[in-house]
Amino acid sequence: MSVVNPRIRHVSIDGALFQDEVDARQVMSVPSIYLNDDLFDSGRKGVEEILAKLDTGAAKREAAKMGTKDAFDVLVIGGGPAGAAAAVYAARKGIRTGVASERFGGQVLDTMGIENFISVKETEGPKLARQLEEHVRQYEVDIMNLQRASALVPGSDGLHEVRFESGGSLRAKTVILATGARWRQMGVPGEEQYRNKGVAYCPHCDGPLFKGKRVAVVGGGNSGVEAAIDLAGIVAHVTLLEFDTKLRADEVLQRKLRSLANVEVVLNAQTTEVTGDGQRVDGLVYTDRSSGDSRRVPLEGVFVQIGLLPNTEWLKGSVALSPRGEIEVDAHGRTSVPGVFAAGDATTTPYKQIIISMGDGSKAALSAFDHLIRSSSPAAKLEVREEEAETA
Ligand SMILES: Cc1cc2nc3c(=O)[nH]c(=O)nc-3n(C[C@H](O)[C@H](O)[C@H](O)COP(=O)(O)OP(=O)(O)OC[C@H]3O[C@@H](n4cnc5c(N)ncnc54)[C@H](O)[C@@H]3O)c2cc1C
Repeated sequence: MSVVNPRIRHVSIDGALFQDEVDARQVMSVPSIYLNDDLFDSGRKGVEEILAKLDTGAAKREAAKMGTKDAFDVLVIGGGPAGAAAAVYAARKGIRTGVASERFGGQVLDTMGIENFISVKETEGPKLARQLEEHVRQYEVDIMNLQRASALVPGSDGLHEVRFESGGSLRAKTVILATGARWRQMGVPGEEQYRNKGVAYCPHCDGPLFKGKRVAVVGGGNSGVEAAIDLAGIVAHVTLLEFDTKLRADEVLQRKLRSLANVEVVLNAQTTEVTGDGQRVDGLVYTDRSSGDSRRVPLEGVFVQIGLLPNTEWLKGSVALSPRGEIEVDAHGRTSVPGVFAAGDATTTPYKQIIISMGDGSKAALSAFDHLIRSSSPAAKLEVREEEAETA
């Protein structure tokens, strides 16, 4: 913003180089954004999100604009790899396509190194997220960012409605649900209070802020053990707590973990509380499940790595969800509601990965197109614009 507007002055501080600034401001999460010396926000933000926070009337204006839009042929909810792929595949059929999402890029924005996106040997999450949006913008797709869906109202006449927290709503002949997943929280006292003040979820993002300090990693699956290995190279000491009687991570990761001198593994441990001094974390309390004893570990940081939760609460009662809250889909990406499809991490599709989500999103878009051309309902009749149909 300061590059394009000379009235905005910006100072960027690298916390890894200026530890005294980090300590003085009690920064426990990056980026921490200060506006005129007051804490404005923390965590990764796009310029659109910052502007929306500064311009308080923006959400209402967007909601009013939504009300004027015609029904979409395909409306994608979610702008992660699954949603972006669905939008590209739908738009290439020359049909009216929209994507509404809270944060374009999804989890990819929170990822650093990506080395298993086939044909790209190595890339970084924010770069891939930018490329996803650029690819979608190549086509005539209506992209509506910073929109959080709050309800799906399936229509009996073939037109479905999606309502948003902003107050707006959109109608569509077919809907593709691609709302992905988010970090699972422990749900113990102190976790929310000390979030970004010692409680963290992204070791790649916030690990360097705990340089030379003591941290715990909660969770002994692949992501927990990877986080512990990663953090062991930065922090003074890592305590890895696993609820089960054994670690669930791949053997190769466990072997690496065991080779590290500054990592202690505690099995059969149920975290019960994160403690602090009111400003920042100073410890973690757990119950030893074999003896029932309660123990306290003094430390400065807690990294929670206990899996992901699908972003599907808003769909309860409208489409069938599995006991884990994932959207139930068949091999074509169809949900329990005709004309409503789903893709990616939010669904019962196994193995939550970028490339799998992209394949899933593409498949859902092709299924949606198939539904449109086969549907006999007048509302669902497809209107392929002539000039676009030729290029599709
Ligand atoms: C730290 C980390 C590292 C990872 N590393 C890798 C890796 O190296 N390789 C790999 O293949 N995979 C990796 N993954 C997994 C990968 O990122 C996911 O599998 C993938 O992003 C899932 O894509 P998705 O589109 O289904 O969901 P998401 O990426 O979660 O995107 C969901 C989208 O929906 C939006 N949304 C959510 N709720 C709503 C709502 N109510 N209304 C509107 N929009 C909503 C979100 O803002 C977002 O745009 C990693 C994940 C994490 C967290």
